[in-house]
Amino acid sequence: MKKMLRLLALYAATALTAPAHAQSVAFTFDDGPRLEETPLLSPQQRNQSLLDALAAHKVSAALFVTCGFGADKPAGYALAQAWGRAGHAIGNHTMTHLDLNSTDVTLAQYQQEITDCDRITSTLPGYQKWFRFTFLREGKTPEKLQGMRTFLQQTGYRNGYVSLDTSDWRLDEKLNEVLRANPKADLTPIRQAYLSHLRQRADAYRAMSRQLVGRDIPQVLLLHHNLINALWLKDAIQQFKDMGWTIITPAEAFADPIYQQPPEQQRGGQSLLWSIARSKNQRKFPGWERLVDDGDFEIDALKAQGL
Ligand SMILES: [Zn+2]
Repeated sequence: MKKMLRLLALYAATALTAPAHAQSVAFTFDDGPRLEETPLLSPQQRNQSLLDALAAHKVSAALFVTCGFGADKPAGYALAQAWGRAGHAIGNHTMTHLDLNSTDVTLAQYQQEITDCDRITSTLPGYQKWFRFTFLREGKTPEKLQGMRTFLQQTGYRNGYVSLDTSDWRLDEKLNEVLRANPKADLTPIRQAYLSHLRQRADAYRAMSRQLVGRDIPQVLLLHHNLINALWLKDAIQQFKDMGWTIITPAEAFADPIYQQPPEQQRGGQSLLWSIARSKNQRKFPGWERLVDDGDFEIDALKAQGL
């Protein structure tokens, strides 16, 4: 009996410290490595800073490489290689980031971009046959949508779905703009806007997952290989931990059944949760406006502070 009580006490203590159904998230980064110049950090420093933040938190992430942004040149290739060597997965995000939904871009042209980028990523450590659609747009016409699904199947690629997309790219534009105007600007409000934006999106997509799927799916977070993450990724990861979220690898997240099947509806794109919502004809959620506002809420708040 005593033994039983001890076991029960132990069980209760474990349950308190490690909830069995903790929300989990995997970190993925698009559009890197980038060789373009930004204020404050060189391309090499930005790359290293991202890797340092991940290492500090023991996070294994994925980098979806846009090969024409740097990996097609020796200097950029070395940066991508550093991700693979650090144990991160390397995915494909086309050569030049064309928009498949554009009428100027043909299906054949888009597929060629994936094949060309694959020639580079396939030589990197950490290589995975994971494809991330640019702008998360999977094609507006049945020809493009179905054509891409067939292409990915035939080439053995999986769709590197995103469930939790953010407008970090928009806040990064703002950060660069502010720094170009004043290299000594106080960045505290931008850092706060970035962290609260990530928290708001995370909470909203978690609620959406519960409503649509009936459970907490492992979320796949989309961030970008840019200055804002180079500066504050470490804080962003800490914030997820403080919220009680568990960090898993992208491979672990993609193993969940939700990422195995494309949503039924014929217009793919954006967050996978939005695709599922559209396929169920559900478009409105508490806070849905802020999931599609491209960070307008935070940008307006920064403007109100004179930034
Ligand atoms: Zn992209």
